[in-house]
Amino acid sequence: MVRVRFAPSPTGYLHIGNARTALFNYLFARKNNGKFILRIEDTDKERSKKEYEEALIVDLKWLGIEWDEGPDIGGEYGPYRQSERIEIYREFADKLLKEGKAYKCYCTKEELEERNRKAIEEGKSPGYDNRCRNLTEEDIKKFEREGRKPVLRLRVPEKIIKVNDLIRGEVVFDSKVIPDFVIMKSDWTPTFNFAVVVDDYLMKITHVIRGEDHLSNTPKHILLFEAIGAPIPQFAHMSMTLGPDRTRLSKRHGATSVMAYREDGYLPEAFFNYIALLGWGTTESREIFTKEELIQEFSIERCNKASAIFDPEKLLWMNGYYIRKTPISRLVELSLPFLKKAALVEENPDEEKIKYLEKVIILEQERIKKLSEVPELIEFFLKEPVYEENAVKKYLDEKGKKILSEVYPVIEKIEDFSREKIEEVIRRFCEEKGYKTSHVFHPIRVAVSGRTKGPGLFEMMEVIGKERVLKRIENVIRGREE
Ligand code: GLU
Repeated sequence: MVRVRFAPSPTGYLHIGNARTALFNYLFARKNNGKFILRIEDTDKERSKKEYEEALIVDLKWLGIEWDEGPDIGGEYGPYRQSERIEIYREFADKLLKEGKAYKCYCTKEELEERNRKAIEEGKSPGYDNRCRNLTEEDIKKFEREGRKPVLRLRVPEKIIKVNDLIRGEVVFDSKVIPDFVIMKSDWTPTFNFAVVVDDYLMKITHVIRGEDHLSNTPKHILLFEAIGAPIPQFAHMSMTLGPDRTRLSKRHGATSVMAYREDGYLPEAFFNYIALLGWGTTESREIFTKEELIQEFSIERCNKASAIFDPEKLLWMNGYYIRKTPISRLVELSLPFLKKAALVEENPDEEKIKYLEKVIILEQERIKKLSEVPELIEFFLKEPVYEENAVKKYLDEKGKKILSEVYPVIEKIEDFSREKIEEVIRRFCEEKGYKTSHVFHPIRVAVSGRTKGPGLFEMMEVIGKERVLKRIENVIRGREE
């Protein structure tokens, strides 16, 4: 039974790189009919915040990643928040101490720093010198009397450690370069490395899929699995996510949190699709996949060792693709929060308003790349247009206004205000008067919408409705300043 976990530390908002780790674990679990576990690694009391944990859960759910066990839903191997498991780590620590596999170290931070400084001065490599490995009872008593609070260190055996990584192949480490490292801090809470291993063991994790930045911790983890007598899971270290300029993805590349993309109007299915394909691909060069298809296609073996490049332009393109494919009723639903925020739609729009929004948004659907663009694109359907200065100068000059006054009664006479009929009547008007269509269409468009760009003129007029179209044209003829 495959069991994998996503183990974020709630010290910030869910980052694209982390979302990718979560997604790969999720796809791997679903593909193998296994379990996907969410575990919150909040042992760093200073940096961990409840609000980040909550935001993380919101973002993961938004992405469409469901877990089988986790802090919010429980499960057989809980609790799933490390801060609630301290006693468990203490038991493991006591056992290692009793067995002599770990020992208490009484060196103070200052002493360690001083020794490191000296080592560097003498051209030696810094790092713990295993000084407290063989303390006598007397030494210990003396330190205890001095009130020193010990940490617990693993007694690192001398050996070659091989990691059979599913993505990177065999990676070999020599334990000589690993000093006896801390597993319990002086407040007798676990270090990150120790908690991870105890939890992966107790939660019966079979595959550890995580970022390459954790590869250097892996020999320590293997030593710890061996020390507590646990089976060693399979490892897969995913390549890092870089920005288009091939430097590590950071604020410089724009938004890096999932939340920022959500708030900017990306569709979860587009985000899921794009992130899931970062760093691996199917044999075909296909790019659009549903969640189900991604689960079917996913393969750890096909993950690249090379870094993945996050390209925001590509994501934007994919988002536009998904928006164009979205049924209009859902697109309206997704756009509502953005329209409310822009104060273009009231808090609880009625049925009629929703129907109207469907008619409006469908006209722009082809052009929308992200939902945050919707308010600006459709603003003039919902309130009086804001007239663009250049458009007014160019098209609502004397000549434009004259044409508008001539076309006004023609429009007024249209009984069936449908796009086909409007088009027919206005084209006939142009012919009869000998006007170039553009000389008529542009002033009408600007008068009705305030701008030169937008959806097709006749469908736009139909949706705005005869009464409002006439009113806007009339306002322009009369001069808006009146
Ligand atoms: N809590 C670690 C992190 O957020 C993940 C540890 C792991 O996956 O083993 O980077």
